[in-house]
Amino acid sequence: MAAKPQSDHDKRKQISIRGIAPVENVGNVKKSFNRHLHYTLVKDRNVSTPRDYYFALAHTVRDHLVGRWIRTQQYYYEIDPKRVYYLSLEFYMGRTLSNTMVNLGMQSACDEAMYQLGLDIEELEEIELDAGLGNGGLGRLAACFLDSMATLGLAAYGYGIRYDYGIFTQKLENGWQLEEPDDWLRYGNPWEKARPEYMLPINFFGRVEHQDGSAKWVDTQTIFAMPYDSPVPGYGNNTVNTLRLWSAKAPNNFDLRFFNNGEYIQAVCDRNLAENISRVLYPNDNIFEGKELRLKQEYFLVAATLQDIIRRFKSSRFGCRDSVRTSFDTFADKVAIQLNDTHPSLAIPELMRILVDIEGIDWEKAWTITVATCAYTNHTVLPEALERWPVSLLQRVLPRHLDIMYEINQRFMDLIRTKYPGDNDRLRRMSVVEEEGEKRINMAFLAIIGSHAVNGVAAIHSEIIKTHTFKDFYEIFPERFQNKTNGITPRRWLLLCNPGLSDVIAEKIGENWVTQLSELRKLEPFANDENLLRQIMKVKQENKMKLAAHIQQKYNVTINPASMFDMQVKRIHEYKRQLMNCFHIITLYNRLKSNPTMTFVPRTIMVGGKAAPGYYMAKLIIKLINNVANVVNNDPIIGDRLKVIYLENYRVSLAEKIIPAADLSEQISMAGTEASGTGNMKFQLNGALTIGTLDGANVEMREEMGADNIFIFGMTVEEVEELDKRGYVPRVYYEKNAELRQVMDQINTGYFSPENPDLFKDIFNSLMHTDRFRLLADYESYVECQDKVSELFKDQMAWAKKCLYNIAASGKFSSDRTIGDYAREIWGVEPTDIKLPAPHEKADPDTV
Ligand SMILES: *Cc1c(COP(=O)(O)O)cnc(C)c1O
Repeated sequence: MAAKPQSDHDKRKQISIRGIAPVENVGNVKKSFNRHLHYTLVKDRNVSTPRDYYFALAHTVRDHLVGRWIRTQQYYYEIDPKRVYYLSLEFYMGRTLSNTMVNLGMQSACDEAMYQLGLDIEELEEIELDAGLGNGGLGRLAACFLDSMATLGLAAYGYGIRYDYGIFTQKLENGWQLEEPDDWLRYGNPWEKARPEYMLPINFFGRVEHQDGSAKWVDTQTIFAMPYDSPVPGYGNNTVNTLRLWSAKAPNNFDLRFFNNGEYIQAVCDRNLAENISRVLYPNDNIFEGKELRLKQEYFLVAATLQDIIRRFKSSRFGCRDSVRTSFDTFADKVAIQLNDTHPSLAIPELMRILVDIEGIDWEKAWTITVATCAYTNHTVLPEALERWPVSLLQRVLPRHLDIMYEINQRFMDLIRTKYPGDNDRLRRMSVVEEEGEKRINMAFLAIIGSHAVNGVAAIHSEIIKTHTFKDFYEIFPERFQNKTNGITPRRWLLLCNPGLSDVIAEKIGENWVTQLSELRKLEPFANDENLLRQIMKVKQENKMKLAAHIQQKYNVTINPASMFDMQVKRIHEYKRQLMNCFHIITLYNRLKSNPTMTFVPRTIMVGGKAAPGYYMAKLIIKLINNVANVVNNDPIIGDRLKVIYLENYRVSLAEKIIPAADLSEQISMAGTEASGTGNMKFQLNGALTIGTLDGANVEMREEMGADNIFIFGMTVEEVEELDKRGYVPRVYYEKNAELRQVMDQINTGYFSPENPDLFKDIFNSLMHTDRFRLLADYESYVECQDKVSELFKDQMAWAKKCLYNIAASGKFSSDRTIGDYAREIWGVEPTDIKLPAPHEKADPDTV
């Protein structure tokens, strides 16, 4: 008798890392689910929609967080540990339901309960909208850090903005990107709890009054910040931390100057203006846009958060909750503030304002406290991404903060003058206040001066900021500069998204890797275990089949599941060089066209990612890839040997679906431009091989797995610098390489846009004249390297062995390791594996 194929349901319930499913647990989940369907959703099963079932399940799971959440916060109040505050304008959380079930170990019980109720849990999980409060890597890093901070038992808080609209939904129309607003709160958010009782006032505009040596910020406009709390459960430890997101609320006395009915109506309507502060996430990745609304968002987050931090400090034991006057002497011992890029760097002048203007502390002492409290993470060296706010804007919106930033700069310039007398050029270079052109405040300089620690996000990036970007600052503050290589949470990015691979690994080495990812090294001795290699390949094949079915259904394209799944998914940016990938696609196409019977290793090349709505070149690149896909996918000579798929609306939940199905991960930025990358780590952890440059964390990935297990090509940072010195002349490469010339000419003459031959001329011209990212210089090396990738793919066992080495070497890239490093080397706190006692739970609290 043939073995019955295992259903997803069977697969998900068999292993204990997804929790145990005794009859009692299953029964409780079913009871609670039915109760929520009735009392919370107010539905019966005759009229329930799948969304009702999702919400009933979400509330059921949420109930299990409540006791743990309250107890964790009580525990922090009682033992009063040093608190860590992670401030970020972005938290790219994705979905919450499956992550909560995984971290609480109740996935099997829920799975079985839904099955018994005749529901498909995977279908319900699909209903949840992503919390897309981020653009890309920076926002997703913040989300991974929350998971790791809770798992490591840190008394940590995420602070951000509750945008009504997250990152836009990307639609493709005729190959062009269209943006639709992301109305993610439309059906309500079961994971958040509004806390209107903790609403705080935030001031803008006004002017500064000086009287007998002290400053007063007066005549301001006040807006309220209302907190919404979301639980952040640790994995298997009963810790539940808080992500607090602020929403803008107009005060009830907002604009009371009305004299007639019409003005009253207008005044009520104008409340929207104030509340627009938290309306929408700015959709820029690695680009600074100096808009007033964005500045207000940044200050709104910082001002609300610092009030909260200081309130909590004052009510704590060490803030002297019993005494009349708070001593701030211990502030930096009890509070660590991490700035996720310069976006929240107004925290530095805001903390100074509170300490000096409100608490009456003298400047020197306040400055010592501020520097000891704050730390700054740099995320990019691209000059167009560095925040430089016009002084005229700051003068209007935050006049007191501008004064304070001037004062900080004055004192810093005095320090430089004593250290380097007469070096006026150095003063000019290092001034927080830029005097050339429109006067601006350089926020990175401010953040470095106001922090005790400054870190890059991968070893190579941390070196570049010391030797290039912030060289002058490294010279005076060498002890401040650190590296903290990024990481990803293995819960979401392996256990949750790839249960098949998780099971294969757990069967071989147990399940400690879920919280000790370096345990994956224990797989290395099995590199020649053919049985294991076959199991890994089998899981990969199953994941590929599932994705192929999804693509068939969504795009009506039939892909060959035996082909190599070659993926580049990330924000569309010239520095990430999606164009070079596209050039490789066209090269393969041209080869097949000129030699249709050649031996060819079939590939399905998938590209996905959003372009900033105002980024012309990025949007044109999307259109080009789509046009190339159209030509390639519909050419009978090509058949199923080469397919190109543009994955629409790349986001966290889509990443979870596609990454487990990847054979090849494209990480091909110009060396020296990608600070770290974290997409690269997700692919490695899921057993894809990488083709990449020696950029960002790719460098450390190679160190961990050995150079034989990764496909490295192209110029190094040093070689890019040498080329710059010699002078980059794109035409040289164009003339030398016939395949490259053919691709360039096809783009220039409308081969992929016959209806509009000039459509892609800007791409040709940019590559031929001003390309900052040296695409033509790396093309040949890239294509040669891709040929080696194809060659290896023919030998599936040799390929699988390298996959195993990739998985085994991914331990360093757990965000648990990253957070452990931040904790010990920046925050001065100790990670623990202490498990808090579980609260006494009843499935049905109303029967207690
Ligand atoms: C991980 C992730 C990113 C970051 O990808 P990079 O390749 O490091 O730029 C961006 N977007 C989403 C949805 C992600 O999950």
